Amino acid sequence: MPNWVLRTAYHIPTIMQVVEVFYSLQGEGALTGMPSVFVRLAGCLIRCPWCDTRYAWDWDAGVQMEPRAIIDLIGQWDCRHVVITGGEPLLGQDGRAREGLVELTRRLEDRGYHLTIETSGQVFDRAVACDLMSISPKPGHLNIDALKDLLGHYRCQLKFIVPGVWDLDQIDGLVAGLGHVDRSMIWLMPLARDRAELLAIQDQVAQACLQRGWRFCQRLHILLWDGQTGR
Ligand code: SF4
Repeated sequence: MPNWVLRTAYHIPTIMQVVEVFYSLQGEGALTGMPSVFVRLAGCLIRCPWCDTRYAWDWDAGVQMEPRAIIDLIGQWDCRHVVITGGEPLLGQDGRAREGLVELTRRLEDRGYHLTIETSGQVFDRAVACDLMSISPKPGHLNIDALKDLLGHYRCQLKFIVPGVWDLDQIDGLVAGLGHVDRSMIWLMPLARDRAELLAIQDQVAQACLQRGWRFCQRLHILLWDGQTGR
């Protein structure tokens, strides 16, 4: 019997803090354009200066929900792709794996959902179920061992935000330290808060991708909706 079932058998309700659940198109990475239900969990210890979801930093943002209630909410849409995002969905307030994530992801897996987790990649918990670990490492907040474990255990994509967050030389150094990483898993993503910024910077980022054989990560949600949240 999975450990998350044992937990509920002892009647200890797992509570997760949920900022929003919404239906939209995946805007980034290998599943760009895929209709998906997004679950945004509250709380982030990292607090990047360029963050476009600051409203999710607070650990008390949104409402408290049990995993089963979250899944009921997801079920209102005729959609098989779920994206768990944040905040930082893998990392709890204590700096360890987030409480409740194993139960939520295992229940989603049991129901046949395709599950993407958007994370900075600082923590690894092999009990978490995931079909695509979408990792956007943050400078100054690296856990190389956790990154290696994530890459070894899950199907992954590595997304680096440029310019201004990462230098290409820094990315080279990090990737070299991770051992063999398939170039088709490495994406460069333009740093942009709105459509104008994205259009201004995207050619520069595309050229960097061509030079290194890495993939260009468009930001479809910014192109379509110009930085609005909840879409
Ligand atoms: S890790 Fe993500 S949610 Fe947290 S501050 Fe950085 S960009 Fe924002």
